[in-house]
Amino acid sequence: MPEFCDVAVPVPLDMVFTYRVSADTVPVVGGRVLVPFRQQRMTGIVVELHERKPSVATKNILAVLDSTPVLDAQLLQLGRWIADYYLAPLGEVFRTMLPLNAEFKRAIAYRLTELGQMALHLAGMFGSSARSKRSPEEQAAEFRVLDYLAACIPEDINASESRVEHKAAGGSATNGKGTASAVPLESATSRASAPEGAALVREETLRSATRVSRAALAGMVRKKWLTREDISAARDATRTIKIAQLKSADGKLNENQRKLLDTLTTSGGKVPVTTLQSLDVPRTTLATLVRRGLVEILDEPAEFSVSSSKPRPSLFDFDLNVAQQSALSRVREGVAARQYSGMLLHGVTGSGKTAVYLAAMRSVLEAGRSAILLVPEIGLTPAVAADLHQIFGDEVAILHSALSDRERAEQWHRIKRGEARMVVGTRSAVFAPVADLALIIVDEEHDSSYKQEETPRYHARDIAVVRARMANAVVVLGSATPSLESYFNAKKNKYALVELPDRVEQRPLPEVEIIDMRQEFQETGHEQVISRKLAAEIKDRLDRKEQVMVLLNRRGYSPVVLCRTCGKKLECQNCAIALTHHKREHKMVCHYCGFTAPVPKACVHCGSEYVYFLGTGSEKLEELLHGMFPQARIARLDRDTVRSHEDFERALNALNDGQLDILVGTQMIAKGHDIHGVTLVGVVGADVALGLPDFRAAERTFQLLTQVAGRAGRGQTPGKVVLQTYFQDHYAVQYAARHDFIGFYEKELQFRSWMHYPPYSALANVLVRSDKLDDALQWSGILGKWFDSTRHEGVRVLGPAAAPIMRLKRDYRYHFVLKSPSRENLNTTLRAMLAYAAQKKIPRTQVIVDVDALWLM
Ligand SMILES: [Zn+2]
Ligand SMILES: [Zn+2]
Repeated sequence: MPEFCDVAVPVPLDMVFTYRVSADTVPVVGGRVLVPFRQQRMTGIVVELHERKPSVATKNILAVLDSTPVLDAQLLQLGRWIADYYLAPLGEVFRTMLPLNAEFKRAIAYRLTELGQMALHLAGMFGSSARSKRSPEEQAAEFRVLDYLAACIPEDINASESRVEHKAAGGSATNGKGTASAVPLESATSRASAPEGAALVREETLRSATRVSRAALAGMVRKKWLTREDISAARDATRTIKIAQLKSADGKLNENQRKLLDTLTTSGGKVPVTTLQSLDVPRTTLATLVRRGLVEILDEPAEFSVSSSKPRPSLFDFDLNVAQQSALSRVREGVAARQYSGMLLHGVTGSGKTAVYLAAMRSVLEAGRSAILLVPEIGLTPAVAADLHQIFGDEVAILHSALSDRERAEQWHRIKRGEARMVVGTRSAVFAPVADLALIIVDEEHDSSYKQEETPRYHARDIAVVRARMANAVVVLGSATPSLESYFNAKKNKYALVELPDRVEQRPLPEVEIIDMRQEFQETGHEQVISRKLAAEIKDRLDRKEQVMVLLNRRGYSPVVLCRTCGKKLECQNCAIALTHHKREHKMVCHYCGFTAPVPKACVHCGSEYVYFLGTGSEKLEELLHGMFPQARIARLDRDTVRSHEDFERALNALNDGQLDILVGTQMIAKGHDIHGVTLVGVVGADVALGLPDFRAAERTFQLLTQVAGRAGRGQTPGKVVLQTYFQDHYAVQYAARHDFIGFYEKELQFRSWMHYPPYSALANVLVRSDKLDDALQWSGILGKWFDSTRHEGVRVLGPAAAPIMRLKRDYRYHFVLKSPSRENLNTTLRAMLAYAAQKKIPRTQVIVDVDALWLM
């Protein structure tokens, strides 16, 4: 029997840890174990059982959590490959591959006690106590906690969890510092007396709302103001949402209470609590009404509602044209051969790639094997889910971003048990534990949402190719605008190139007219947002009862607030980024970290009243269009108006049903929708990126312009695109206007070759960051000297330089860009650099290595 086992623990360290195995705790390779790690207990993955006695004392495994592997040999191998290629800690890679956090994460929540209520009451009456030993800041923090808890109505634990985790998924919360999936330490919970009906609030929620430390919360528990409860087991409940139900509307009511009850009455007596919380009344109002027995709070199951839109044409009868059929048979042949093959499906917008994907997946299902379809983040609407259920029945598992941890884990188990052999999902679905994998399809393979922007910084498209190779499966990368890398690989015969050159039913690609906005300025004498030509074309479409989309790839009202006296901009407190004015919400917002500030009446730097709001975002564009076309029905689609997949689909349905005349939006409107009534697409600002210091700017602009142009003329009436630009001579604009992917590709490739950029070089971005400027400077200096003093075979190192966004989310940022024709040399250099950084005690979480970085900002 092996005496030791090596465990990959989810910590930011590039190593595995050895533990001792006892007779009654024999783990399996690929299974989870509970181990002591520093002062914590953590769940790790066993990577090896062996007899090699380590030189240091070893601790025992605490528990074996799986009797069979959760990661099979192939997924373990894939994890190792990712750790090696992206220089990511193996334990963190495995954690990303396994969506099982919900099963072993410890959950702590707090509840207000009667003593706490009294303390809040006294503080409210007398203010902070001068005799207290605590500083005014500490007292204020405690007051915030008490106040927050008192205002909470008993809330659903799981609902608040999914909200918190949503935020983490999109932001910085897990930048390598990720929360370890620790296990409950004590199962017994303290049950100090808490007032009837006091809300139980999750630690994460409470801390993010009140910005207090764990230590401060512990202090308040000691004073018996709060109870601390372990609610890990509560995760077993299915996800529900809170519904407020009207019981009675009698009695004396103040204005706020009346407003709330009126809303309930007019909505049939029952609405989600979140709806009431979005009303302009204090949070406490609802709690008061509940206490008075006028309103009752109920749990109702929350589900990712399958679309309620009218039935869509059945996708069952794949009526494929010749090109589609030939693409399909290429995929089928590859699958039947049970050998790795890669294919790039390059089909123009509207050429029917999706039908090919679905038909190929159905034949895989009929053969009793498995397939994975990866889609970009915005692609999985309830309507798509409904279509997939219609085609694949219960055999499909859909992994969309609205799932809670718990639901994600359930889907994972369904797949693992072989109940769902068709998997459709965003980025991380590439790790789905399917058996007998035959086919992986990556739809819109150029989409940047496939790259994870936190550790491990993998690219799901590239992982799909590696996994397919390991599994002797077929991988299909599909796009109307393939990435330079993928097209280059196809040209080098690494993938078979399959083209769908025509739109279905011989529909023509739209005519594109370029409007030079510099000339427009000269002729009209002032800066225009909507050119005369675009205005005329929109009017024409409205007269003909046709529909229009207008793209402006920048949300908010005005992107810059400038002082005309001192010339300074209003910047974010945490980032070197101008704040954007959001008019309807009446605030200034940082689009990078979410920081908000009041709208300034005077310059914050010099006090001058001459502050100007410059530039145009989608919110202002919508307002302008309302002014120009008061009769038109206009809606906007961007991250401010779309909070969920349902919102997104609602807007598209409204357009589809002819309830809208104009849809304004950011790049969200460019992605893959098939709306037949749209005959005009106006592009108002899509070339902003061309001014950015990023070698992928031209590629991104070309892709965006081509994709948005592809929304026009997908029905019976041919489409037209009016493309306004300040860069009318730029090749990205010119080739997009001609729908000429090959032309763009050749030109861009030349530039990449001259500049030694991908696909001619492997590239990595090394970012050094710290919230202390001195540390960031010193560390990047240390690494810079090291790069200078050591020889690196065939690796170019640029830097250190201040990152284009020099300050982000409170961190100061410096970076190096490494380029090499040899990936092996590049990775050797990076590995040596990380070892040197560790030796110099630079924290691993502050040196971010981004291999194949998509952004150098
Ligand atoms: Zn000023
Ligand atoms: Zn910011």
